[in-house]
Amino acid sequence: MRLARRVENLPPYLFVEISRKIAERKARGEDVVSFGIGDPDIPTPPHIIERLCQAARESANHRYPESEGLPELRKAIAEWYEKRFGVSLDPDKEVAPLIGSKEGIAHIALCLLDPGDTALVTDPGYPVYSIGTNLVGGRPYYLLITPENNFLPDLNRIPENVLQKTKVLWLNYPNNPTGAVADLDFFNKAVEFAAKHNICICHDGPYSEVAFDGYQPVSFMQAQGAKNVGIEFHSFSKTYNMTGWRIGMAVGNAEVIDALKTMKSNLDSGIPQAIQYAAIEALKGPQDCIKEHNDIYQRRRDLIVDTLNKMGLETKPPKASLYIWAKVPNGYTSVEFTNDLLDKVGVVVTPGTGYGRNGEGYVRLSLTIPDATLLKGLSRMAQWHDSKNILRPKKV
Ligand code: PLP
Repeated sequence: MRLARRVENLPPYLFVEISRKIAERKARGEDVVSFGIGDPDIPTPPHIIERLCQAARESANHRYPESEGLPELRKAIAEWYEKRFGVSLDPDKEVAPLIGSKEGIAHIALCLLDPGDTALVTDPGYPVYSIGTNLVGGRPYYLLITPENNFLPDLNRIPENVLQKTKVLWLNYPNNPTGAVADLDFFNKAVEFAAKHNICICHDGPYSEVAFDGYQPVSFMQAQGAKNVGIEFHSFSKTYNMTGWRIGMAVGNAEVIDALKTMKSNLDSGIPQAIQYAAIEALKGPQDCIKEHNDIYQRRRDLIVDTLNKMGLETKPPKASLYIWAKVPNGYTSVEFTNDLLDKVGVVVTPGTGYGRNGEGYVRLSLTIPDATLLKGLSRMAQWHDSKNILRPKKV
């Protein structure tokens, strides 16, 4: 069969590869502890499931949904943004429900990029920003984010010839994989930059509700003039532990949202309506689950950071997100360390290079692992460390 070049050039998705490795080991009867994917282990709260079950029984919800979502869902999303961030949105023109935010993140490239256009993407970064760009013949230009710049890109250092071809800037705070956060000042400057260079900002904010120590992340939509230059992707996945139900949203600039809705109406037939009703319940119902989950994640964060630091893997506790971004021990590349942990003690962590070349020297650990398994994983990592006795000297 002759496949399209775009498929032949497409690497296997990072977590598909990791799941394959885990499955192989489990098939051999090995017990693997995975700090891999950021998929909440705590179930969707019961009141949301209850609404989903009720809605599933109603025959009106057995038919094709509208691809632009139920008006009640768009209204509930707009009300949530108003309540949480003080941002007002027109539910008909500035809100697009998505089949999970990953779907919208990939499809927005079809709306904003022609072949040869550039999208600015941070390195490290969530892989779908550059995958979507490449799939439409666009070119990612990587902005390095490092601890020295608090994992925020320096927008003033992008060469003029790159800016001339740039149509999109991808940002994501709280950040996957680094756990870094951005404040309103950064977003205000990004809006000014985008307005000056006629660039659309796509901000991805699925972790805005996963935060610790009382910290409250801001939304890109709160920046002065954000709606003139961009949109924000958001998700029910991490806020309400609804990864399996596949529902998210894009909000912001009416022209871009309209383009996304038009594109999607030609590609998909919307989100199953029972799931849309569950999402409305999530937004409008009790919100206690968010704090409850964050307390659990915070405890896990502290346990992991403490263990890793004791092992000599330099790690700072993130203020938000589901991830710990840790330096690998001297003498190891990200992949070598990842493979060694899996081979020697059956622990899966994600190599930093899965998020871009600049992720070299780091691994990512997810907080979405049940407490007992987490403790088992940490004790195995400590065993790994003890078995090395001293860390290998740095390669020269
Ligand atoms: N954006 C980021 C930064 C993510 O880390 C993820 C998932 O891990 C997504 C988007 C996709 O989320 P979903 O498609 O479940 O809404």
